[in-house]
Amino acid sequence: MQPLLPPEQRYARQIRYPAIGPEGQRRLGQARVAIVGVGALGSVTANHLARAGVGTLTLIDRDVVDLSNLQRQMLYDEADALEGKPKAAAAAARLASINRDIRIDARIAHLSSNNAEMLLQEADLIVDGSDNFSVRYLINEVSAKHGIPWIYAGAVGSSGMTMTVLPGQTPCLACLFPEPPAGGSLDTCETAGVLAPIIDTIASIQAMEAIKLLSGNSHALHGALLQIDLWHSEWQSLSVRDARRAGCPVCGQLRFEALDGTREEALAVSLCGRNTIQINPTQPLAYSLERLAARWESLGTVEHNAYLVKLTRDHMPSFVLFADGRALIMGTDDDTLARRMYTDLLGE
Ligand SMILES: [Zn+2]
Repeated sequence: MQPLLPPEQRYARQIRYPAIGPEGQRRLGQARVAIVGVGALGSVTANHLARAGVGTLTLIDRDVVDLSNLQRQMLYDEADALEGKPKAAAAAARLASINRDIRIDARIAHLSSNNAEMLLQEADLIVDGSDNFSVRYLINEVSAKHGIPWIYAGAVGSSGMTMTVLPGQTPCLACLFPEPPAGGSLDTCETAGVLAPIIDTIASIQAMEAIKLLSGNSHALHGALLQIDLWHSEWQSLSVRDARRAGCPVCGQLRFEALDGTREEALAVSLCGRNTIQINPTQPLAYSLERLAARWESLGTVEHNAYLVKLTRDHMPSFVLFADGRALIMGTDDDTLARRMYTDLLGE
């Protein structure tokens, strides 16, 4: 498609900023960014980077849009939720309507040790839009192994934090947090809720770091673990300059336990704030989505599109199945029930 405006006009306000200039803009146009999770944080970073003219965006997300997401996930609307569109596909469609001149690659997938390197290793930068530490450890290891910078972020309640990781230069996530926080020890958006403006703030800092890094301005990165609480108006910048650990298993010893799958990966995962259980298959699907849709017709209401099949029954959680065999069981936090439904509908 022909550009509506030549880049020097479309991005004129950005190019006028002296540290960007025409050369910085050209670099942004050639950059490839992978965004892991396009929920709340990822919606904001993807929006900024698409508008800024980053050449290629890969959007990786495992979930579908739900009405309860709209309070904070800025790329989606009621129609996306009512259709139950996968977030990666809904985000890609929205961003394509904002900027036709960039490449957007939607990947409906759960990042795991099986696909993390394949999905991330071509990127120049990885942006964390996830909500859990198992995904962040995978990103951290791909970053260390392939020399790709990444930007960590998390937000819950009214506070959030972010840090930019440059492999070989700054501490990595495992230097600061060698072990994932014990289950139940952390507030999550499920237990503590989350207010949307902190998400925008933290994700906007991520987007600005991305723009600095990709336009050739690494010297301007903030170089800290930033912690912000917008309700209590507290801003803290903890310098991480001396936090790199020579004995760090990931960036020091180059041992990749998450990627090697030596860290246990749960089959059933509860999705934060969603009253939803995800089941990861141990084997690929034996049947096509079409065939399963036909088979389930006698059980309840079946909806079927290019990405998924959804089965809705009275007094039962809804069951959403993706082509890669992954399922979301929506309307329950009971993982035993979720596993049983998976087995009942798909066999062992
Ligand atoms: Zn490290």
